[in-house]
Amino acid sequence: MSDDATSKTKSPLAGLNLTFLAPAEGAQTAPAAPPSQTGNGKSADVSVVIVGSGPAGLTAAIYAARANLEPVVIGGIAGGGQLMITSDVENYPGFPDGVQGPELMGLFRKQAERFGARIVDADVDRVELGSRPFRLWADGVEYRAQAVIVATGAEAIWLGIESETRLRGRGVSACATCDGFFFRDKEIAVVGGGDSALEEALYLTRFASKVHLIHRRDAFRGSKIMQDRAATHPKIELHLNRTVEEVLGTDHVEAIRLLKTDGPGEECLAIQGLFVAIGHRPTVAVFRDWLEMDKKGYLRNDGATTASNIDGVFVAGDVDDHRYRQAVTAAGEGCRAAIDAERWLEAREAEAEKTEAGAVTAR
Ligand code: NAP
Repeated sequence: MSDDATSKTKSPLAGLNLTFLAPAEGAQTAPAAPPSQTGNGKSADVSVVIVGSGPAGLTAAIYAARANLEPVVIGGIAGGGQLMITSDVENYPGFPDGVQGPELMGLFRKQAERFGARIVDADVDRVELGSRPFRLWADGVEYRAQAVIVATGAEAIWLGIESETRLRGRGVSACATCDGFFFRDKEIAVVGGGDSALEEALYLTRFASKVHLIHRRDAFRGSKIMQDRAATHPKIELHLNRTVEEVLGTDHVEAIRLLKTDGPGEECLAIQGLFVAIGHRPTVAVFRDWLEMDKKGYLRNDGATTASNIDGVFVAGDVDDHRYRQAVTAAGEGCRAAIDAERWLEAREAEAEKTEAGAVTAR
C-alpha cells in the first residue's frame, strides 16, 4: 500500500467543532435514539454530508469543497472503496503507466483534503432522512446536514458455502492485493469469470507458483484483453464449466472440490489459497428504509440528475450503477452529485431569501 493511502488522518472527528444539541427542530419522524447518540451526544451542523470515500465520494468532496460547501465525508472505517483492494489500474485516465488502486485513492483523498473537505474514518450507523436537516449518526456523533450525497459503493459477494466461511482468513480471501503476498510459491485458485477474477488471477501470478482460474461457464464475461492475458499466461490454468462445491481443509485450505457444469462428475484440486472474485453488491444497508432501489438492490436516481426520491439526497457511484461500475464513471457521477447538491442548496437559499423578503414587505 502506498504512503498516501497509509497516511490517512485517522481522527474520527476530523477536526470538527462539535456542539451539544437538542433533538432536531421540526423533525417530523424523529425516531427514539439510544441516549448515547442524542440528548447529551455530540452533534455537528454541516451543509453537505457525503457518505463513502471511494472515487464517487471523494470526487464529490473535491467539487463540494471547491464550491465552499465545507463537506464532511463519512468515509467508512475501511475507507477508499473497492480500489483499496485493486492492484493495477490501467484504465484510469491520466496514468499512462497505470497506478495501484490504494495509491490512486490516497491521491483522491489528498486532493479533497487540500480544498478543505473533512474526512471522518467511521461507518454511518443510522440515518434519519424524513425531514431537514437530515440526520446521520457515526461513531457516536450526530451529523445534521442540509444535503446528503450517498456514495457507499459496493462490496464483495461470496460463494455462500459453509466451508468458505469457515476458512475465510485461513486461505480463503476476496482480496488478492491484501493477501496475495502470503501465497508466495504456492498453488492457488481464483473463482469467477469477470474482470475482477481475471485481474486477480494475473496479479496473483506474481506470487503463486500456479493459479487455477475456475469459471462456471465456457465463456468469460471479462474484457477481451484480460481474457487473452490470462489464457496465455504460463502460470494460469483455466478450468471452465466448473463450480466450487467445497473448500477442503481443517485449519487452512488444502484443496477444493469442483463440480462439472457441462456433464456429470467432480474433481479435486490441491491448492493452498482460494480467491473469490464473483462480483459485488451495493452497500445500502442504512439507506434501505429511505431510498428507492431497483430490483437488483441498487439505489435509484432520477436518471437525468443524481437526485434520489428524497429532495436534497443525491446518489452516486457503484451504489446506483450496475452497468458501468468503473472508477472513472463513479468519479464522474460524484462530480455530478456535488454539482446537483450545490445547485439544490442555492435554490433553497434563494427560496428562503424570497420568503424572508416577502415577510418583511408584509410587516
Ligand atoms: P462481474 O462482471 O459481475 O462478474 C462476476 C463473475 O462471477 C461472472 O463471471 C459470474 O459468472 C461469476 N459468478 C457470479 N456468481 C457466482 C457464483 N455464485 N459462483 C460462481 N461464479 C459466479 O463482476 P466483476 O468481475 O467484479 O466486475 C464488475 C465490474 O467491474 C465489471 O463491469 C468489470 O468490467 C469492472 N472491473 C473492471 C476492472 C478493470 O478494468 N481493471 C477490474 C475489475 C472489475 P457468469 O459470467 O456466469 O454470470
